Amino acid sequence: MMGLFGKKKTEPCPVCGREMDSGILSNSKAVADGIICHDCELMLRGKFDVETIVEFGFFDINDVKEKRHDPLRYMTVGQIKSLIEKLRETQAKAVADFGGTYRSFLTADEVFMITPKATEVGLKRAKEMKNKLVVRGLVQSGSFCKGDAAVIVHDGNEIPVTVLDVIPCEGVVDFKTSLQSNMHKKEAAADTNAWLILDVSSGVKDGDLIAIR
Ligand SMILES: [Zn+2]
Repeated sequence: MMGLFGKKKTEPCPVCGREMDSGILSNSKAVADGIICHDCELMLRGKFDVETIVEFGFFDINDVKEKRHDPLRYMTVGQIKSLIEKLRETQAKAVADFGGTYRSFLTADEVFMITPKATEVGLKRAKEMKNKLVVRGLVQSGSFCKGDAAVIVHDGNEIPVTVLDVIPCEGVVDFKTSLQSNMHKKEAAADTNAWLILDVSSGVKDGDLIAIR
């Protein structure tokens, strides 16, 4: 008997080809001219924020500021496909270079320092995160969890570091909002973007690896 418990309707993601549910509860993502799967969406979250998408010339900054829309909604399947292909090439090279040494690693795309206010994150977290570096990047391999002992790989040297928190880049929520709500998962797996809060005030540059042996 089919009926309610019949086979779910699926269709392939136009970017990666994986089957995705097309039902109402599916978390696939509508873009300008199609629907992509959640995995492909997560490859782009954080990295391709509004400013980056505007740099690519996909749409005008004034449209975005007024509408506050999700940039992914303006990108075509073709544009997303070429971006993800580039990311996959970089990832394959990083895995070939470092996969034998580290079980988990992330390449730093962006590094910035934070000093959150006690009124925003509570006294304890404000103290813990004062003048700490945040590294955003794609988890190329393995996974990162809050509290992990990792290393910064900089010019071939390893500097030990503790991961104070992990904030996965999901949806259109920015770093500050995620940090304040503190409702995020405290881990991030391969093929997703994340912000890692590290217990250092310096020593990380764009392109460095954060890695776990
Ligand atoms: Zn996909």
